[in-house]
Amino acid sequence: MLLTLRTTHVPATDLGYLLAKNPARAQSFDLGFGTAHVFYPEADENACTAALLLDVDPVGLVRGRGHGDSGALDQYVNDRPYAASSFLSVALSRVLRSAMAGISRERAELAATPIPLEARLAVLPVRGGDAVLRRLFEPLGYEVEAAPQPLDPAHPEWGDSRYFTVTLRATVRLADLLTHLYVLVPVMDGAKHYWVGDEEVEKLLRHGEGWLAAHPDRTLIAARYLKRRRSLVDQALARLVEPEPDVAEEGAVEAAVEGAEAAEPSAASVRDAEEGALESRISLHQQRLEKVMEVLRESGAARVLDLGCGEGRLLRLLVAEPRFTEIVGMDVSHRALEVAADRLKLDRMAPRVRDRLRLIHGALTYRDRRLAGYDAAAVVEVIEHLDAARLAAFERVLWEYARPGTVVLTTPNAEYNVRWPSLPAGRFRHKDHRFEWTRAEFQAWADGVCARFGYTLRFLPVGPVDEEVGAPTQMAVFARADTPVAENAGSREGDG
Ligand code: SAH
Repeated sequence: MLLTLRTTHVPATDLGYLLAKNPARAQSFDLGFGTAHVFYPEADENACTAALLLDVDPVGLVRGRGHGDSGALDQYVNDRPYAASSFLSVALSRVLRSAMAGISRERAELAATPIPLEARLAVLPVRGGDAVLRRLFEPLGYEVEAAPQPLDPAHPEWGDSRYFTVTLRATVRLADLLTHLYVLVPVMDGAKHYWVGDEEVEKLLRHGEGWLAAHPDRTLIAARYLKRRRSLVDQALARLVEPEPDVAEEGAVEAAVEGAEAAEPSAASVRDAEEGALESRISLHQQRLEKVMEVLRESGAARVLDLGCGEGRLLRLLVAEPRFTEIVGMDVSHRALEVAADRLKLDRMAPRVRDRLRLIHGALTYRDRRLAGYDAAAVVEVIEHLDAARLAAFERVLWEYARPGTVVLTTPNAEYNVRWPSLPAGRFRHKDHRFEWTRAEFQAWADGVCARFGYTLRFLPVGPVDEEVGAPTQMAVFARADTPVAENAGSREGDG
């Protein structure tokens, strides 16, 4: 298999410094599964081309570590010696390691500078053909030229093979080009030569830093890179959205401010001493969950989702009531799910109870078939953890695709924060919160959701209602409307 890298950046022979390979002499590297050769077919002031020729030994591969899938002949007779594949990625990471990392001792500045580059892969298998090739590289700014190889040049009537000769052109940093190839060559081939485990997720995220999260086909990339191992793909995608929040600290600020509140009883609670004492013992969180349960019962739901279930406090209340026949808790954080399983004593539950409950790992900002067809969804203190820019994705995931009959959603009321003296002005209740909304902001957003997706809406306060700033928590209950979306949206025009 052959990869050539060409630049016309003057002096072009600086490419030798960037690759840390001298244009004046050919070098070879033993890689275990074969040999890599680096040489320069062209090297002058105005244009320089480096070639990486990888000579894979298919017989040695089989003998090496017995990693063929079967004892069939195709272990020996296959395309691996000729076609660019995950072997090329391994070669890049070993032979051009410093260039891939953007390190150049002699030309540090040039390594950090976008220069005109052209990469050519002589034989690249592309599952999905030309279209997939373009979907992968064009969003990264490459001009893509792809010539399909005929199945047999002597028989043009047989049509094309899945192999292409591919040329990619862009003005990029060499390190970026190499990193894109490292990740995307095996993605195009769709057949990695080695077992894919947890460390591949780390590898993908590390090499995908700065470009994968924004790539429109990140799901396809992750799925193929991780060989469609669902749990790994979920993990990678979830982490592309945002880092895992610190579950241990979740609710810590609220608990602290509630504690401070209890220590400084208001005139009202002094007056009603007993009631006040009682209230401070029932935390806001508890009140919130009770209210959510109330709404869920009223809705008549039997099959419910708890999205962003965290440590599973709502799940515990749900499993206690037989009317809820199917309960699914989902969270993006593995740790939260572990804590939930632990606290619910999942492993010690009676099978009859356990069969009604499922914990799944997933991100609310990606469409997920597992969420479709439920009666109701609770989203308790979750949206404020989502990047504002990802809210639109979340809306579609929940109200367009999952489309439960009822959605019960809570979020802090930012106006109430002034009633907590121990919470510094302008600060959020939790360090992972991306925003906290006033009642007007929340209602405007929820109204928009209803209009766009065909739901009706009511708002409920949670916690003690303050005349001026409202309740500490605000709740919206969405009910799927029977009227078509367009009509519903129309009737709301002019609402402002
Ligand atoms: N609903 C729970 C937990 C609230 S904390 C309760 O009321 O106790 C917010 C939770 O949302 C955290 O567990 C966090 O891991 C989860 N979360 C944050 N972003 C998410 C996302 N994109 N997809 C799914 N869960 C997410």
